[in-house]
Amino acid sequence: MRALVIDALARASGKRYATFDVVGVGPRLVAGLLIQLGIKTDLKTYEHVMENEEMIDNYDIVLISAMSSDREAVSKLAGKLSRYNVVKILGGPIGLEFYELLASMDIDLVIIGEAENQLIRLFTEFKKDVISKDFNALSEVKGLAYKAGNKIVFTGFSKYVSKDLLNKIKPYTLVDKSYEFYWARRFYVEVVRGCSNFRRPLLDLGFGRKCIKCLRCSSPKLHERLWCPRLIMPGCGFCSVPFLFGPPRSRNVHAIVNEVRELIRHGARRIVLSAPDFLDYARETLVPNELLTDPCYPRPNYHAIEYLLKKLHEIPEVYSGEVKIFIENIKACLVDEKIAEILGQYIKGTTIHIGLETASDKYNETVIGKPITLEHVVRAVELLTKYGLRPYVYLIYGLPYMDAKVYRKTIKTIPLLYEKGVEKITLYKFSPLPLTSFEFFKPQVSKYTSLIKKLKNVIIKHNLEAKKKLLGKTMKVYVVKVNHKLYGYPEEHGPVVFVKNDNRLPKDAKGALCKIVVTDIRPRYVYGNILEIIEVFK
Ligand code: SF4
Repeated sequence: MRALVIDALARASGKRYATFDVVGVGPRLVAGLLIQLGIKTDLKTYEHVMENEEMIDNYDIVLISAMSSDREAVSKLAGKLSRYNVVKILGGPIGLEFYELLASMDIDLVIIGEAENQLIRLFTEFKKDVISKDFNALSEVKGLAYKAGNKIVFTGFSKYVSKDLLNKIKPYTLVDKSYEFYWARRFYVEVVRGCSNFRRPLLDLGFGRKCIKCLRCSSPKLHERLWCPRLIMPGCGFCSVPFLFGPPRSRNVHAIVNEVRELIRHGARRIVLSAPDFLDYARETLVPNELLTDPCYPRPNYHAIEYLLKKLHEIPEVYSGEVKIFIENIKACLVDEKIAEILGQYIKGTTIHIGLETASDKYNETVIGKPITLEHVVRAVELLTKYGLRPYVYLIYGLPYMDAKVYRKTIKTIPLLYEKGVEKITLYKFSPLPLTSFEFFKPQVSKYTSLIKKLKNVIIKHNLEAKKKLLGKTMKVYVVKVNHKLYGYPEEHGPVVFVKNDNRLPKDAKGALCKIVVTDIRPRYVYGNILEIIEVFK
């Protein structure tokens, strides 16, 4: 049996785009697990498979990993796969839309939520049934959906993956064989699975889901927060992570460091420690007989975080600065002087993402279900900047019940955030996701068009202002040649650089590590010229 895992994450409609350096952890996890189960497995990118369609003939099973926004790309891929005799399995965040997917595309099986438990059973107990596409026997495997005649069968949600299993799985690391431009990409390495925010929107969400203010979701008995008598989904109203992935479970230092070492051995230069909140790392061990369902208490596990970063820093390529380590997201309420100092010691100069969503504390707490205040975020930005990190902040518009007051407060706060050290604000439009509290709400934009415009403009103005600091600056970037154009990805992350003087790169080079100077700026990217070629990649 041979399996092919296809990384279709963030491919949207399937066209190439400038910011394609992110490599999510899902496809590597699936490929690694299949190899551990004794299945010959390759991992390739969406583009590679689309351009080399005939390779599909070499496989019996194809597993696609994609997000909800990648439906068009997946549909194109499914069209190609249908010409071959392979079992087509789809997973990743897109899996939640299994009904529409199975009804509209030629896909055999959809994996819903975490994939590990299902994959282990499918490729041990049910191998023959999978290969022969005889799915009747699979009804007892939770976390799957498939077609049975005219019907679509959903087998129910699977149990959360145990910490023990998370530590046993060795994600695939042969990235030089799978990803073009592997030397430029940011490889995500999972350090924490799950989210600690089990507060909820205290609202009437319709369909009988009206909060009765029982306050169970803020109970000091942390396990009580798991379940709401009115079946309101846990966590921020727009997010499905707490429901789908459960409370945080951290991988052990040994598993993480080994994975990073292997990735480096196969050419990776930029590693992102991935977690819904990096500061949740090993925080669950501070509530040993409980489940970590409070986003702000107890305080971070300083010792564990420092130990993990120290061990990663001991890897020679990390110590020398050749390989950069980043962290992904953090919750502002966990940032204090002590943790900012630890982060500054090991990952100074890198970016760090903080979700604020809106500047109204009351709205965030009661409508979104996120007990993190503007004061928390401002303080976090100040402290992280003080210790040399580069904070990026997320905001959202179009959320349910977001009124003029919330918009005005948020608009008013933007200058303060930049004053305290924010490098960039990213504004998202609310998009309802399955299995979230806000699943059935549409983005509310028409009533507040002028305020939304004002919010966008003030963010563009300040993002541009912040980028002005980059004008004339030199930085190291990984330059990648795509369709005769050069895109630069800053070694320590930052805006994509459109490189103009491409004649300096050898003709046969795929890219290079270069020193560039920033010559012009735009709100979302910058222009630059190559000053020096440090290393060429062919
Ligand atoms: S969201 Fe649910 S658990 Fe929380 S207070 Fe309301 S009814 Fe109680």
